[in-house]
Amino acid sequence: MPGVALAREYKYMCSDPGQELIRQDIRDHGLDRIVVAACSPHLHEKTFRHAVAEAGLNPYYFHMVNLREHDSWVHADKPAAAAKAMDLIRAAVRRVRWHVPLERRQAPIHANALVVGGGIAGIDAALTLASAGKHVYLVEREPTIGGHMAQFDKTFPTLDCAACILTPKMTAVKSNPNITLWSYSEVRRVEGYVGNYDVEIRRKPRYIIEDLCVGCLECIQACVFKQAKVPDEFNLGLGKRKPVYIPFPQAVPQLVVIDPETCIEFKSGKCKKTCVEVCAERNAIDFKQKEKIENIRVGTIILATGFETFDPVRVPYYGYGLYPNVYTSLEVERLVNASGPTGGEIVLRDGRKPATVGIVHCVGSRDVNTNRYCSRVCCMYSLKLAHLIKEKTGAEVIEFYIDMRAPGKAFEEFYNRVAEEGVSFVRGKVADIYPAGNGDGRLILQAEDTLLGMVRKIPVDMVVLSVGLEPRPDANDVRRLFNIGCSGDGFFLERHPKLAPVSTFADGIFVAGCCQGPKDIPDTVAQSGAAAAQALALIDAGVIELEPNTAYVTEDACCGCKTCIPLCPYSAISFLEEKKARINEVLCKGCGTCVAACPSGSIRQNLFEDQQIFEEIGGILTYA
Ligand SMILES: Cc1cc2nc3c(=O)[nH]c(=O)nc-3n(C[C@H](O)[C@H](O)[C@H](O)COP(=O)(O)OP(=O)(O)OC[C@H]3O[C@@H](n4cnc5c(N)ncnc54)[C@H](O)[C@@H]3O)c2cc1C
Repeated sequence: MPGVALAREYKYMCSDPGQELIRQDIRDHGLDRIVVAACSPHLHEKTFRHAVAEAGLNPYYFHMVNLREHDSWVHADKPAAAAKAMDLIRAAVRRVRWHVPLERRQAPIHANALVVGGGIAGIDAALTLASAGKHVYLVEREPTIGGHMAQFDKTFPTLDCAACILTPKMTAVKSNPNITLWSYSEVRRVEGYVGNYDVEIRRKPRYIIEDLCVGCLECIQACVFKQAKVPDEFNLGLGKRKPVYIPFPQAVPQLVVIDPETCIEFKSGKCKKTCVEVCAERNAIDFKQKEKIENIRVGTIILATGFETFDPVRVPYYGYGLYPNVYTSLEVERLVNASGPTGGEIVLRDGRKPATVGIVHCVGSRDVNTNRYCSRVCCMYSLKLAHLIKEKTGAEVIEFYIDMRAPGKAFEEFYNRVAEEGVSFVRGKVADIYPAGNGDGRLILQAEDTLLGMVRKIPVDMVVLSVGLEPRPDANDVRRLFNIGCSGDGFFLERHPKLAPVSTFADGIFVAGCCQGPKDIPDTVAQSGAAAAQALALIDAGVIELEPNTAYVTEDACCGCKTCIPLCPYSAISFLEEKKARINEVLCKGCGTCVAACPSGSIRQNLFEDQQIFEEIGGILTYA
């Protein structure tokens, strides 16, 4: 081909000897442009640019032909694919001649970090970063941190008391001087770029002055509501609370909240305000409190916003919400908990103790009508609940499962233990749940037993639906706020499932825990440690190197039409007083949207200059 001084074939060009070949050829033959036609720039573009730079050439004098995603992986016709490979190589050879030297730029990294979500994932990530001396802002939407784990009694497979292992971590967050905890708060705006994110946080009013409240809870006792009447969110409506409340006894921060929806003072202004009277000395109650806005700058962000359980109302034939004795697994977590609404007693809504309990697996998981994925924790937490129900009531417990999935450390042993304790197992998906018909609240579980090859109808007193894990309903809004992606199932998308499982496509933003996909507590904690380590590596580097393949405006040609500004997915374009667009090269990710949209052709992009693209097209269209 014209302009090609040397062509080589080597099977493992990305290996050290392969790279050395390139370096040596540059030195020996004075090569000034390099094209590698090999697997994928996704994996190896950086490797080759580095090799080229080591030989003294500007790394952007290199171009890689993507023979994998653009050719071998997408074509079945081998001769045609080989012909296409040659076209792509010709195109690369023609375009690389027009490459110009480019320099990578550096941006400083701010040392503080933001963690969003105070479940076990966020707590663990915040503590790891704080223990390395970094200042962490931990933002939690609810009045307390703890997430779902705070609702459990025991955790599988070891049956550790959840509160005993979680509470010390929660209090460590509160007492750590490197952590600023903002509970009852939400991130409202995020601007900036890796190393320099400007974040606005909205702190909802608790109607309590945090610095004055000592968590004595006397206001709750004094509230004119003599009986707790409001369905209690933490107990999923199984218990009641007052308008002034603390979510649960070990809540962190240990501060009460006043719910304006149910507080008489907010509703009518005619309350005797006995809560204010008992707090007269401290004067911590403030009915006029307004929301507060905090603005912070951080270098890196960890998203740990967790999951929501599947709402079984969406599977009407299971009768949740229709038959009072059908519960979700999370509700049963509260029932078995000593600090739960029944003090740990497993009693039905009519006060009876169940003698037979059916646990239905895969509700909202592994089902084409709801979620196709496996929620990974339901088999194991169902075994845990079976053990706890049996231990507390002596009831006969039957698990209805599709496949028993117990792949973690000590999981299979836990399954065997629960089976030996006398829990029964029916292999079959429950097709229907309906009243037994004698008015005593009993229910019939109908399932095809695939091991016996027959339909079974088993009467039970209580049904537990092992609901799956889903993305939070606002996951898409959070994704947009932080400019990251979601996978098809709605969970936050990691940059690479194997090689970058906690990174996202937004540099400096990491994910941890169930917001990335269903997982148990050990995997959540492992992932939050990984996210914290990545965040630390970034902060400690002090600066970040930025790719130069960004767009830029030739200001003389810009007509000031502003077409580009709303199109930029990274908010990288601003409008100058001189009525010209300007691109912040640090924010620009080189997606090219503005370049394509600019009606005056005044936006151009490094490595995608018109001439380079025309030459590439020319190379493809030239018959060899
Ligand atoms: C019924 C049930 C039983 C289980 N039992 C076990 C068990 O025994 N053992 C085990 O290993 N695993 C168990 N699991 C799995 C366990 O719940 C998860 O592994 C763990 O809770 C994941 O923690 P997380 O921090 O990722 O999410 P979460 O616990 O959901 O915490 C997320 C936190 O982020 C907050 N948040 C959400 N959105 C925002 C926002 N936009 N801004 C600020 N804050 C936000 C939430 O309020 C919450 O506090 C069980 C799950 C279920 C459903």
